[in-house]
Amino acid sequence: MKKKSSSIELGPNTKVIHHGNSYAKETGTIMPPIFQSATFAHGNPLGFDYTRSGNPNFRILESVLSSIEGCEHSCIFASGVSSMTAIISSLQYGDNILCEENLYGCTIRLFEKVFKKFGIKTTFIDFTKESEINKINEYKPAMIWIESPTNPLLKILDIKKICKKANNLNIPVVVDNTFTTSLIQKPLELGATLSLTSTTKFINGHSDALGGVVSTNDNKWHEKLVFAQKSLGLQPSPFDSWLITRGIKTLPLRLSHQVKNASLIAKFLKEHPLIESIKYPFLETHPEYKIAKSQMKSGGSLISIKLNLSLKQTISFCKNLNLFTMAESLGGVESLICHPASMTHASVSQEMKNKIGISDSLLRLSIGCEDFVDLKNDLSYALGKLI
Ligand SMILES: *Cc1c(COP(=O)(O)O)cnc(C)c1O
Repeated sequence: MKKKSSSIELGPNTKVIHHGNSYAKETGTIMPPIFQSATFAHGNPLGFDYTRSGNPNFRILESVLSSIEGCEHSCIFASGVSSMTAIISSLQYGDNILCEENLYGCTIRLFEKVFKKFGIKTTFIDFTKESEINKINEYKPAMIWIESPTNPLLKILDIKKICKKANNLNIPVVVDNTFTTSLIQKPLELGATLSLTSTTKFINGHSDALGGVVSTNDNKWHEKLVFAQKSLGLQPSPFDSWLITRGIKTLPLRLSHQVKNASLIAKFLKEHPLIESIKYPFLETHPEYKIAKSQMKSGGSLISIKLNLSLKQTISFCKNLNLFTMAESLGGVESLICHPASMTHASVSQEMKNKIGISDSLLRLSIGCEDFVDLKNDLSYALGKLI
């Protein structure tokens, strides 16, 4: 914002467009330039020194992200995984992280294949079970790690309840908020210590840059994140930060269209005879529908379905689609379909997949910004070819 016109809280559409200091005073530029500089002259008025520990493009994006999250601090990273690395690296040898059992596949891989070697332990439980939440202190965790909706099963966890219990025990809670963004769900307001988002997905929205962010109201945590950013080299590039700053300007517009499309697609698929089950947070048939309604502003744009089909037929359904590309990632303007068992969760053990319900007939749809009718016709055609 150039000047404060009043103290009235701005709406999300305004916040994403009128971002922080654009360094435009001298030139009148409307778009911030890309500060493609690795280093800065010592003693400059804004205190920049070396891009690994800060760059004007980081500051611009961080100010937009903290403004829509409504928080004190946001620290950006090279990817969602870099953000996770920054958080985990602040723990000590022997610490235990109590995790939701249905986490994003690469999160599980980072815990199990990398940090385990450095003595960080993990315990996976089902956080939708009240009996498990009540047992939190028995695990003596140094940290709790959840995501809601979960990937790819779209389970909804009661963030407020989990955080209340954890806060009473002084255990920090990390919420991976990638599937909703702060426009739909605000983990910090629900009691989380850290809100993490892969900005690669909805925030950037155009599938052309990777990024991650961790937001917090806790000064000590913010210091730890900034320290990790520079000491582990987890910083993004100025260009990617600039791209994400551009992408976020249309986040509220894109998201509302995607959510509208997704709720219509969910209703359409629910009635289709080849669909064995469907999960969309705002469908009344969702097991945690009431919690979803209480903590999310909308149902988001991800849908997971189980088909009444064999593995081979499930894959041929995906290949019969024209508008949905079979690809990892989500949240972009283009619709995508993913087969978690062989894609995002391929690195998860078969035992774990069976336990949590990632079957061969499970598919995750990320609904984009195309016209609803075209998406519906595409799904209808591909399903029709199987009958
Ligand atoms: C994609 C994703 C990540 C990782 O983000 P990258 O930007 O790909 O590193 C983490 N959590 C969730 C839920 C994701 O979907």
